[in-house]
Amino acid sequence: MRDPNKILVHEIFASIQGESSFNGMPCIFVRTAVCHLRCTYCDTAHAFHDGTEMSIDEIIEAVLAKGIGLVEITGGEPLLQPLTQQLMTRLCDLGLTVLIETSGAVSIRDVDPRVRVILDVKTPGSGESHRNVISNLDILQPHYEVKFVICDEADYEFAKKVSTEHRLYEKCTVLFSPEAQSMNPTLLAEWIVRDKIKARFQIQLHKVLWGDRTGV
Ligand code: SF4
Repeated sequence: MRDPNKILVHEIFASIQGESSFNGMPCIFVRTAVCHLRCTYCDTAHAFHDGTEMSIDEIIEAVLAKGIGLVEITGGEPLLQPLTQQLMTRLCDLGLTVLIETSGAVSIRDVDPRVRVILDVKTPGSGESHRNVISNLDILQPHYEVKFVICDEADYEFAKKVSTEHRLYEKCTVLFSPEAQSMNPTLLAEWIVRDKIKARFQIQLHKVLWGDRTGV
């Protein structure tokens, strides 16, 4: 039986932010456990079930001990655990810059407005595009980022279509990121230049540096 006053945390570690416009900056990652999706390319299946129950105070203590002012809440899917909202508010109150990486399959409506949301829009290649909460695209803020992980040309066309139809380029930063196993990053970059897309090409920097190692 889970303690309702605790968050199931898979790991807390320091690394380089590798999947947003904060790319390249030292960052503390709080990886919560549990995800309700099963993306074809998921590289964090180890976080689907296993974790340690931690109070918000314990998590904050662990984050502050690392002495870095940028913290990202990731998963799994962090918004599946309601206490994540309180955790982010407490971290903002402490003056930290707080990012959340979310699958796009949960509403972001109740996220503290100071938090910088990095919202995945699942592409067909993920196998989970039917789970996108499309209403999230109506409440985007200028400091939010929308990310498409692109597996192939069909995903690229999907990302272009969604970005145009929902005027994403006018609302926030849009990231097009090549899926590490299936999408040639050079080819994706060439498509973006060819089509004059207003998205930012984004590569998973931590994978360039450390491959599939966990905890970095
Ligand atoms: S949303 Fe993220 S953690 Fe969940 S299955 Fe997809 S890639 Fe994995």
